[in-house]
Amino acid sequence: MMRIGFIGLGNMGAPMAVNLAKAGHEVFGLDAAGATAEGVKQVQSINEAVTDMDCVITMLPNGQIVRDVCNEALEHMSSSSVLIDCSTIDIESARAVHAACASKNVLSVDAPVSGGVGGAQAGSLTFMAGGSQNAFDMAKPLLDIMGGKIVHCGEGGAGQAAKICNNMILGISMIGVCEAFALGEKLSLDPQKLFDVVSTSSGSCWSVNTYCPEPGVGPQSPADNDYKPGFAAELMLKDLLLSQSAAELVNADTPMGARAAGFYQKFVDANGRGRDFSAALEHFKSATRG
Ligand code: NAD
Repeated sequence: MMRIGFIGLGNMGAPMAVNLAKAGHEVFGLDAAGATAEGVKQVQSINEAVTDMDCVITMLPNGQIVRDVCNEALEHMSSSSVLIDCSTIDIESARAVHAACASKNVLSVDAPVSGGVGGAQAGSLTFMAGGSQNAFDMAKPLLDIMGGKIVHCGEGGAGQAAKICNNMILGISMIGVCEAFALGEKLSLDPQKLFDVVSTSSGSCWSVNTYCPEPGVGPQSPADNDYKPGFAAELMLKDLLLSQSAAELVNADTPMGARAAGFYQKFVDANGRGRDFSAALEHFKSATRG
């Protein structure tokens, strides 16, 4: 049994912490908004959440918050422990946190996730991890409890790099799928027939086969629940903007990623906030050319 400090018990963090507690670990949870999780002992300060822990896990909204929390945590963590940041954050912040940990001889892993709240509850998240082999080996048994697939992507920051690349593909592909289903409707195509063709043809992808944005077509998805998230449009925008700052950092040309970020910025600013990112289909159904 390990003693685990878990900081950030939001939509994702709470069910992840619950799964660690259910697996028999002693979990101490801290959340700025006072959120709690079943089986998790609530603490009131970073000091209490990290002192004498074998592992500290963070699941927080953005890079600045992760930097601030980790800098304070490192004042109290012992050098035999490991810090696992599961938040989705910018590469520079992830690298800064690894460097701060290294300066205190604390092992660290960036381990962002894919799979959403459902995956967090089911313990079936995909983890993309970055860090030294030693750090990964320490983190892996805990990631196995919270996830179904764990990939060690490389050194510190590699997990965030993989997450940003994956979600850039997802943002671009969802826009493409929404454009195609809107065009199909305007060409009087039955959306079910379009799904039957595309899902077994070269246009098939996760955005069609698993998460079809057309209501009543394909497996159950947020489209069948009035586009309640799921994966909210503003979270997709956050990840696309992270991919654009990463691209700037290394001078990479990502024109489609940039267009996707621009699209979701407008979509969120209009009326997309709080709606699933696949609600982009409604935009294309009502939009006209030009
Ligand atoms: P959330 O807003 O529900 O939870 C974040 C929690 O962090 C909140 O409860 C907040 O009170 C707490 N918090 C903020 N600052 C804090 C601080 N200084 N100290 C302690 N607690 C603090 O967000 P979420 O949906 O759980 O997402 C968490 C992370 O996971 C984000 O980085 C997000 O991009 C990523 N993510 C989310 C999803 C998803 O589907 N929700 C999927 C994959 C990745």
